[in-house]
Amino acid sequence: MKCTEGESFTQGHLDRYGSIELSPAACVLNYGQGLFEGTKAFRGENGRLFLFRPEQNAVRMQIGADRMCMPAPSTEQFVDAVKEIALANHRWIPPTRKGSLYIRPLLIGSGPILGVAPAPEYTFLIYASPVGNYFKEGMAPLSLYVEDEYHRASPGGAGCVKAITNYSPVLKAQARAKSIGFSDVLYLDSSSKTIIEEASSSNFFIVKDNVISTPAPNGTFLEGITRKSIIEIARDLGYQVDERSVRVDELDHADEVFCTGTAAGVAAVGSITFRGKRFDYKVDGRLVSQRLYSTLVGIQRGVVQDKWKWLVRI
Ligand code: PMP
Repeated sequence: MKCTEGESFTQGHLDRYGSIELSPAACVLNYGQGLFEGTKAFRGENGRLFLFRPEQNAVRMQIGADRMCMPAPSTEQFVDAVKEIALANHRWIPPTRKGSLYIRPLLIGSGPILGVAPAPEYTFLIYASPVGNYFKEGMAPLSLYVEDEYHRASPGGAGCVKAITNYSPVLKAQARAKSIGFSDVLYLDSSSKTIIEEASSSNFFIVKDNVISTPAPNGTFLEGITRKSIIEIARDLGYQVDERSVRVDELDHADEVFCTGTAAGVAAVGSITFRGKRFDYKVDGRLVSQRLYSTLVGIQRGVVQDKWKWLVRI
């Protein structure tokens, strides 16, 4: 789907997967004017195909587009296009328990521009790929490295939207953490370096005395759709969930830690290392995160009642 500045997106079309043509002066290539989204299509236990809250991705893209001076597809256009891609690729959607179809919508300033200014033309496109379960049976829980040199975002920046430019500046931190054996990085706020924000592509939760806490949105981290869903599920299961500033010194006393995101669902964290000190957490037993994971996955597979009507059948 394309549109020129000041216009709305018109009906798009389905194409075989392949390269796209861009001018070397495309705004997205020169100034990074672009956003992406990530959602999944699932095959339920009964064989039916579902999307999980795709309208939330549409709204997040619209909020991001406003921040990045771009027009955005309407919620209906976005959801219809996601459905069309999922249906066109239905034979690639793995059986239940084996994985899902990852769907990647992209909104880019595709028109050419020499000076720093919004692009004269925009492209909205979606591609998809089958993915296995993020964490295979028996795979070790996450080991996180708290990064205090590099930051993902700062106040007033674009950390709270899914701007493509948020991701490459932290590749170095991620590569460094992985090279010394960690599975991911945990980012701190850029001013006090004492407040936890999020991991590379997931949101952060701690559990202490059965109370669940997660960083309150402050404009510098991405509010995940999984995060939002887990907060609702947890409250419905009777847990107290506090959205507040979570300090790095709380890592020392937490009973349990987990991360949430479209890719992983709910991922248990086994250890966190901060300035050479390692904190270990419970990863088996009757864990809060396991309960939340089973409820979320159960809804997505159509075996737990979808009381919030989050599933969109396709
Ligand atoms: N934070 C960041 C930086 C992310 O890239 C993601 C993945 N979209 C998340 C959090 C989790 O968001 P969601 O639950 O919507 O996948």
